Amino acid sequence: MKSINQLWQLFDTDPASTSTDLTRKDFLTIAGRGLAAGAVGSALMACEKKPEASTSAPTVTNTPGGPVPNLPAQSPPATVPDDVQKPIELEQIEAKTEQQEPPTPTPLPPDQRVGYALVGLGHLTLDQLLPAFAECKKSKVVALVSGSPEKLQKVSAQYGIKKENCYKYADYDKLRDNKDVQAIYIVLPNGLHAEYTIRGAQAGKHILCEKPMANTAAECQAMIDACNKAGKKLMIAYRIQYEPHHRMVREMVQKQQFGKVKSIMANNGQNSDNPDHWRFKKALAGGGSLPDVGIYCLNTIRYLLGEEPTEVSAFVHNTPGDPRFTEVEEQVNWLMKFPSGVQASCATSYGHHDDKNYKVLADRGWIKMDPAFPYTGLQLETSQAQGKENQVTQHKIGDKNQFATEIDHFSECIVENKRPFTPGEEGLQDHKIMDAIYQSAREGRPVKLAAVSKKDAFRGPEPKME
Ligand code: NAD
Repeated sequence: MKSINQLWQLFDTDPASTSTDLTRKDFLTIAGRGLAAGAVGSALMACEKKPEASTSAPTVTNTPGGPVPNLPAQSPPATVPDDVQKPIELEQIEAKTEQQEPPTPTPLPPDQRVGYALVGLGHLTLDQLLPAFAECKKSKVVALVSGSPEKLQKVSAQYGIKKENCYKYADYDKLRDNKDVQAIYIVLPNGLHAEYTIRGAQAGKHILCEKPMANTAAECQAMIDACNKAGKKLMIAYRIQYEPHHRMVREMVQKQQFGKVKSIMANNGQNSDNPDHWRFKKALAGGGSLPDVGIYCLNTIRYLLGEEPTEVSAFVHNTPGDPRFTEVEEQVNWLMKFPSGVQASCATSYGHHDDKNYKVLADRGWIKMDPAFPYTGLQLETSQAQGKENQVTQHKIGDKNQFATEIDHFSECIVENKRPFTPGEEGLQDHKIMDAIYQSAREGRPVKLAAVSKKDAFRGPEPKME
């Protein structure tokens, strides 16, 4: 059996987070009631039970310690002292029967964090990634690459990036000479991912690349080959796979907590506008709703099951005359068959009101995440029979910054020389499946995929998720 500390680490809520529902005290209380390692999933479920159809909002418990600040760039020294990585013990100030504090945060000292160059200063970088670095414990932003001198000036001032570490796209390859930069995070239109990954690896940097990995499977393979040749790591930024709610569902599914999974329904759609944006141009986007948002349904289902589909069947629809859909598709609905017998039904669109969720149907219960794919505010519910009643449980686990956990995982892989959990091969597999989905819709018939018998065939070792 695992120790309580080991179990806690499996579900550890970020000590730096300010909105954490399942705290160490909840966990210790549950564990203290005699729940063993195998029952941790049920223990986490026990946070709150409510009758079917009730929609009570989760409560929020604050934990101490704010976000760890992002600090100015410095070149990385060689060693990480062990004692710096141990939580500092503080004197107890609450009765043992009260909620106990989580361990104090143990961020890497600033000069030992992995230094990143962010390429592309658009919505994702400015709205999510730069703020997320403030919650990272192993990573820091040290350089920026953009085509806009104004943005470079403003953003570097806002985040304390050295002026000499701001690059135009034309100077991208000069990152080679910058010792502050160990990794490049590519946040450009999809059609530029391959080129900037390959050039980045050739410049001697590790690459974290946004989803979808590229425009085509052939580009994905070229990116993998280039990183291998340069001896650099490549990770695709599948944030969902580093998010605690989804990680909990994966454990429920794989441990068959609600029995054998039969069916999964997933939907990720939104009403996108501006036909002039690169997302509606085939050369820059690769496709429409499928590679942009539909990929969440596909990648998350593969992640939950740890299996690969053997057959897909799909329909594509574009509203006639809609100027947004002259080059890329509006809506895709598709089915996937998995070797265990699970059948998945997915839908994605650029043409309907925002909807992002999934439901897993098993023989003794169901698991529902709605919403499932936004950056925050995920809601997880399960249902199973208990005696004569159907018991629905709302699971309260604190939000973690998905981008911070994802980025820190890549930094850890760099520092400890490990294979990322979502390497290039994981992105390539999504592209092969998306190709089959398009082919099925085009040819009006189901399309078979190469059978993959190994579980989690394209993933690296499980992330630590501290
Ligand atoms: P965006 O349009 O807001 O930003 C793209 C940036 O690329 C802009 O700063 C733009 O100026 C720059 N750019 C450089 N060359 C360009 C060119 N030739 N044409 C157009 N723009 C060019 O896009 P975004 O929403 O930040 O998306 C960037 C990437 O991040 C995409 O691959 C997208 O799929 C991905 N993304 C991921 C998530 C996630 O949750 N992981 C969320 C949003 C976007």
